[in-house]
Amino acid sequence: MYKITLSEKDTPKKWYNIAADLPVEPPEYSQTEDGKQLENLPKIFSKGVLGQELSTERWIEIPKEVREVYMKIGRPSPLFRAKGLEEHLDTPAKIFYKREDMSPTGSHKLNTAIAQAYYAKQDGVERLTTETGAGQWGTALSLACKLMGLDCLVYMVKVSFQQKPYRKTVMQIYDGEVIPSPSNTTEYGKKVLAEKPDHPGSLGIAISEAIEVALNDEKAYYSLGSVLNHVMLHQTIIGQEIKMQLDKIDATPDVMIGCVGGGSNLAGSTFPFIKDKLSGDLDCQFIAAEPASCPTITQGEYKYDFGDTCGLTPLIKMYTLGHDYIPPSVHAGGLRYHGMAPHVALLAHEKVIEARTVHQTDVFESNKIFAQLEGVIPAPETGHAVKIGIDEAIKCRKTGEEKNIVINFSGHGLLDLQGYDDFLEGKLED
Ligand SMILES: *Cc1c(COP(=O)(O)O)cnc(C)c1O
Repeated sequence: MYKITLSEKDTPKKWYNIAADLPVEPPEYSQTEDGKQLENLPKIFSKGVLGQELSTERWIEIPKEVREVYMKIGRPSPLFRAKGLEEHLDTPAKIFYKREDMSPTGSHKLNTAIAQAYYAKQDGVERLTTETGAGQWGTALSLACKLMGLDCLVYMVKVSFQQKPYRKTVMQIYDGEVIPSPSNTTEYGKKVLAEKPDHPGSLGIAISEAIEVALNDEKAYYSLGSVLNHVMLHQTIIGQEIKMQLDKIDATPDVMIGCVGGGSNLAGSTFPFIKDKLSGDLDCQFIAAEPASCPTITQGEYKYDFGDTCGLTPLIKMYTLGHDYIPPSVHAGGLRYHGMAPHVALLAHEKVIEARTVHQTDVFESNKIFAQLEGVIPAPETGHAVKIGIDEAIKCRKTGEEKNIVINFSGHGLLDLQGYDDFLEGKLED
């Protein structure tokens, strides 16, 4: 058996909200004394997602229209067994990988983009603004907006805009409008450029620009691709599907791994299992794989910080490297974020989730092995999880343990070939 599939009718009907089951009370969002960050939320987010952001209801129904689009884009996604890799590693462990790369835009991000575009449309707005780093989120939101009949404006981190020209093309195919950030289309962008005309940009700055536009346009909302509770919620269809898939072979996971940028693919794949761990029904290890160059959980502080650089978002209690942190331009652009989803951060702080760092060259090294054995080329982001999965399988070879290792395969790397090219030519920095 190489893959475990589900039928369309198995597409989850509810999202799982971990806020109902957290081991400690999650810290509330807050704002600065002179700031309006909390009051601004209803101006930039739909009623639907704001309600979910603060909800403590355990199961939240997925609107029929959203579930319909989930099926249209190919959900449920298959769970593959990496038999080639197992044999190569000579491990008694079973390695599974959940194929979020099979979404039309190549990553898990469409799962929340569709929901967010749906709720925005419900409120009667005409467009969504957002930021994108590597481009996966901008791509997903551009397609979701197209499917829901909205316009989409994307601020793309300038260094990625230059490194990944084809991402821009994909967004434009879906009619997304793409502006390199920092830009002179916003007050904040102008300020950044005045101080440093050749600024490479960062996710934090691009978020500030996108929020500024949404605040000044009644017909626009802002949309975030990770970090916030409602994004984690929408992604839980991944973990619910994995559960059904493992049930089919009477298996439970012993180790689950996801790479972390803002935390959403890790949260989505693991939260339904963390529920069982917290209730004492499952013994499983949850590992967050982060880049050594942007080590948010392992090196960051657990404290209140802004989600963006300029301070337009509420203060969020999370692991953070500081809201003005400019990470080095590693190829895993999707992992270059200074903060971490508050629910993931809380669970890491409570030691339910553990974090490990991975170096960029090791990522490309193990991705090449994975591609040669399994065929699929992992996204550089995904490669962080693949690397940890390989490490865990090698441990099992040494101990003889027959663990079930589940990697959330967050995306493919077919639009990240520049990084692969640099790697193959030995030009990649660590
Ligand atoms: C965006 C992205 C990530 C990181 O974001 P999370 O919110 O942490 O999931 C990881 N992998 C891929 C392929 C991505 O596109």
